[in-house]
Amino acid sequence: MDDCVFCRIAKGELPCEKVYDDGKFVAFLDISPVNLGHTLVVPKEHYETLLDMPADLVADMSQALKLVASMVKNGTKAEGFNLMMNNYEAAGQVVPHAHMHIVPRFKGDGLKNWQGKKADKDDLSSVKEDIVSFMQI
Ligand code: AMP
Ligand code: ZN
Repeated sequence: MDDCVFCRIAKGELPCEKVYDDGKFVAFLDISPVNLGHTLVVPKEHYETLLDMPADLVADMSQALKLVASMVKNGTKAEGFNLMMNNYEAAGQVVPHAHMHIVPRFKGDGLKNWQGKKADKDDLSSVKEDIVSFMQI
């Protein structure tokens, strides 16, 4: 897509701090890192969300992720890392081109992880039924 910032980065039309390129995926540093070394793994083809990506490309992305996550962890001497993907605006997706975040983590870095709250048993059971009803094999 001509006006998509990640398409333009993938084509080399916009600059980035690139750390990986295997022809199908490119990985580069996030310009507003949560921690230094925060990296984005991006399919070169334009798909808006995970659900728009073909299944085999999602499988390929998991391989690229494992490789790049290991590079980020070693390169930043991180003690851990978070993988995250925002899908759709409601989940905080700002760039509408599918991408995974790799965020290097350090003990005591002050970043907060999600905090769940105990759910009602009936609510859990009911939402389970709703989700299972959309199972496709
Ligand atoms: P998301 O909320 O998952 O859509 O996140 C988009 C991410 O892309 C944000 O963390 C931005 O800081 C990052 N970002 C936006 N434009 C650029 C760019 N030109 N180069 C690198 N990272 C970018
Ligand atoms: Zn794009």
